[in-house]
Amino acid sequence: MNCDICQAPFQPTNKNHRHCHNNCTAKLYAARKKVRLQIKEALKALRTPEQVNEFNQSLSSVLGVN
Ligand SMILES: [Zn+2]
Repeated sequence: MNCDICQAPFQPTNKNHRHCHNNCTAKLYAARKKVRLQIKEALKALRTPEQVNEFNQSLSSVLGVN
């Protein structure tokens, strides 16, 4: 399969693998870590469950998680 990030073909060693080892996994991890920090800050501003839900949905699209 091809890496989600750099599009290079690679051989996944398990079915959850979507990124090659050309730093792409590390890049993704760093990006998510950054997002998590932003989330932490943003959560302080969320006051109602509706706001939290809305935020979680926008987050899922950012992270590519369903
Ligand atoms: Zn890659």
